[in-house]
Amino acid sequence: MRHLTQFINSLFLAELFKGLSVTGKYLFKKKITVQYPEEKTPQSFRFRGLHALRRYANGEERCIACKLCEAICPALAISIESEERNDGTRRTKSYDIDLTKCIFCGFCEESCPVDSIVETRIFEYHGEERGDLLMTKEKLLAVGDKYEQQIAADRAQDAPYR
Ligand code: SF4
Ligand code: SF4
Repeated sequence: MRHLTQFINSLFLAELFKGLSVTGKYLFKKKITVQYPEEKTPQSFRFRGLHALRRYANGEERCIACKLCEAICPALAISIESEERNDGTRRTKSYDIDLTKCIFCGFCEESCPVDSIVETRIFEYHGEERGDLLMTKEKLLAVGDKYEQQIAADRAQDAPYR
């Protein structure tokens, strides 16, 4: 009996009409396709995009080279070298993130005690040459400097949940 039903279904293209009925159901509904890049979908203030290193308002780097982010990174994407300054404070000599390893889990920003390493809303970036996706300390600080206003606003929105 099962074989007969299958035969009749395939003879009258039952599966095809079933599929077309689903298509027809959505034909006149409101379209949800977004015409990227002219149109963009809403972004959460917790969006995890390109990384940045932040500074305090006086220009001092926030990072204290505690290496918590390096230790917690599950992809081993962060490499830090630290040094002691003349004033006795500890700062990073180098801070690299290999974006080809990063899985954008956000653990680094969650572990940072001074809100230094953060993930921004930026997702439209690419690399054309070897090394373009290796974010050095200079590149990370430059991203932080450029987007500090947005980063600070997003962190303030997130503060009640932390
Ligand atoms: S987002 Fe996750 S994988 Fe990427 S650098 Fe931070 S901790 Fe590592
Ligand atoms: S970015 Fe934050 S967690 Fe990472 S070394 Fe600097 S202070 Fe520590």
